[in-house]
Formats: sequence, C-alpha cells, structure tokens
Amino acid sequence: MTKKFQTEKYQPLLRKMIEETFPILRHRKVEVEEKNFSQTGEAISKLSGLLIIVINPSEIDSKSELKGFFAHELCHLEDFAIGGYLKGYLKILYKSNFCSNYREKYEKETDKKAIKKGYGEELKIMNEKNILSNHWDFSERCHLTPEEIEECICDMNNKNYSSPISTFI
Ligand SMILES: [Zn+2]
Repeated sequence: MTKKFQTEKYQPLLRKMIEETFPILRHRKVEVEEKNFSQTGEAISKLSGLLIIVINPSEIDSKSELKGFFAHELCHLEDFAIGGYLKGYLKILYKSNFCSNYREKYEKETDKKAIKKGYGEELKIMNEKNILSNHWDFSERCHLTPEEIEECICDMNNKNYSSPISTFI
C-alpha cells in the first residue's frame, strides 16, 4: 500500500542547501513528499510552477545520505527551473523514457553537478548504498559509482589547487 503525505521536517536542511548552493531556487517553492515506492525518490516539476522532491524515507538512514540525495534531486530541480516546465521537464521525461543512453548521460551529469557544488562525499555515501540495494535505477548503471565520484572530487581538487601552487612556484 502506498503511503503518501507531505512533510515539513525536511525544509530546514533543504532551505539551507538552496541558500548556499542553489541560488536559482531561492524564491521557488520546493515541497518534499514522502512516499513508499520502489525508488529512493524523484524530482517533479508541476505545470503550476511548484517543485517537488519525492523521497522514500525507508531508503534514507543518515543525514549524509539525505544530503547526497537532496543534492542530486535539487540539481534536477535547478534544470527544471532554468528550462521551464516544457523545455525542461517534458524533454527530460521523454528522452529518459525512450532513450536509456540519454538517461544515463543525464543522470551522471546531474551527479557531477552535485559534486561541483560540494556534495561529493555525501553523494558517494548515497550512491554506494544504492548500488548495494540495487535502488535508484542502479540496475541500469544510471548514476556515478563511488569510484567515479572519487575521481571527480580529485579532478576538481587538482584544478582548484593548480593555480595557487603554480603561482607559488
Ligand atoms: Zn536523477
């Protein structure tokens, strides 16, 4: 039986993350809805402009996982906010359903965006767990593996540090 209800308890963390790293969503209403279903969660853009993150609470065991999960889903909402309902949501939905290559590419790009925003460690914890439990569409290898996330974090650190080091030398 699917249990579905809206909840406010996620808002403090969500608003903090939006404030710090998702400025485009600052003035948008983002609701969180709990739902027991076969996925960890999903991001939804309504025609009315309302943005929703659906979360399966039985799949989240720690604040780090929650942060990793929100970071990924907020990146989707950011895309919806930039592209608008038709350009963003429908295109992604259509392509995702009919072209698995596009979906894999898009999901991995979304993970990379979350890492760039500073959520690499949390995303790694979340993705590691999802690989083990086979959730969040990991059967289709849609998301970055913990090893790939580690590589991305290293690449970014190297880029960040290369310029101060070279000027120091
Ligand atoms: Zn996703």
